[in-house]
Amino acid sequence: MPTTNDNLVEVRGLRKWFPVQKSFIERLVTRQRQFVHAVDGVDFEIRRGEVFGLAGESGSGKTTTGRLILRLVEPTEGSVVFDGVDIAALSGEEVRRMRRRMQVIFQDPFASMNPRMKTGDAIGHSLEIFGVAKGEQKKRLVLEMMEHVGLTPARILYDKFPHQLSGGQRQRAVIARALMLHPDLVVADEPIAMADVSVRAMLLELMVQLKEEFNLTYLFITHDLATAKYICDRIAIMYLGLICEMGTLEQVYRNPQHPYTQALLAAVPVPDPHARRTAPLPKGEIPSPINPPSGCRFHPRCPFAMEICSQEPPPLRPVPDDEGHLVACHLRS
Ligand code: SF4
Repeated sequence: MPTTNDNLVEVRGLRKWFPVQKSFIERLVTRQRQFVHAVDGVDFEIRRGEVFGLAGESGSGKTTTGRLILRLVEPTEGSVVFDGVDIAALSGEEVRRMRRRMQVIFQDPFASMNPRMKTGDAIGHSLEIFGVAKGEQKKRLVLEMMEHVGLTPARILYDKFPHQLSGGQRQRAVIARALMLHPDLVVADEPIAMADVSVRAMLLELMVQLKEEFNLTYLFITHDLATAKYICDRIAIMYLGLICEMGTLEQVYRNPQHPYTQALLAAVPVPDPHARRTAPLPKGEIPSPINPPSGCRFHPRCPFAMEICSQEPPPLRPVPDDEGHLVACHLRS
């Protein structure tokens, strides 16, 4: 087991329930409050210098988990410890200072950039906010970072507005912005999902290269296991607010234990036309997180479901003889 010092982030019993907004009539008819169980009790660590992946379908809770770690939303229960400090215990000013060490790359670079702010000003905005640099000094630092992330010719692109950049350039601008304060942790939420297929590989390579140069730790959130395979060191598979499998990339991809992981991996396109798929794809839609299924949340879609599966939730347990590999499935007990 790693020491606490090896872990940059420790997540314990993290839970986030959002209240369901009801109309006036609905409130009259039923007084019972309902909640979306977005994240329902997850535990994991992110070790210094690693790329930790959170993967799953839309609605699995991975993005909310990332936002909880950044304290962009408050948890219903549980804790997030960042570099030994429980972030829930921090005051507003302390959170602001902590944010300097945690940055985020959102999925949609267009939506996350101010359309009225020139690219260079947007990238360097945090330098001014945190009193690091302004004026010519800020411009020099921004131009250096733009060159670093391949946003060139930097002097010309500095004065462009976001709508004048290509999708790939916008994503490089968002990456540059995230790195201006030299953070320890970058939460990358589907960072290449909006980019053209032709530039995705380049952006991933850039992220890998920047991680080494800036000594970064990534939380890499994705629905795409093919992308996660390229960049992650360890990965957790989420389903309906819970982690169903976790381990190193090798453990999870070479020896998937959970039927959901097996199905997700079976759905990854294979470049070999002769390759055969063996695992069945999950049937049906992901159930509602307002009333998640009893027992194992995957049981309505699982081809191997047994009687116990609808009755008892399987705990996340170590896979025998495979240290660090965890799975939550009654088949493996
Ligand atoms: Fe399938 Fe049961 Fe395992 Fe859930 S616990 S994944 S329903 S076999």
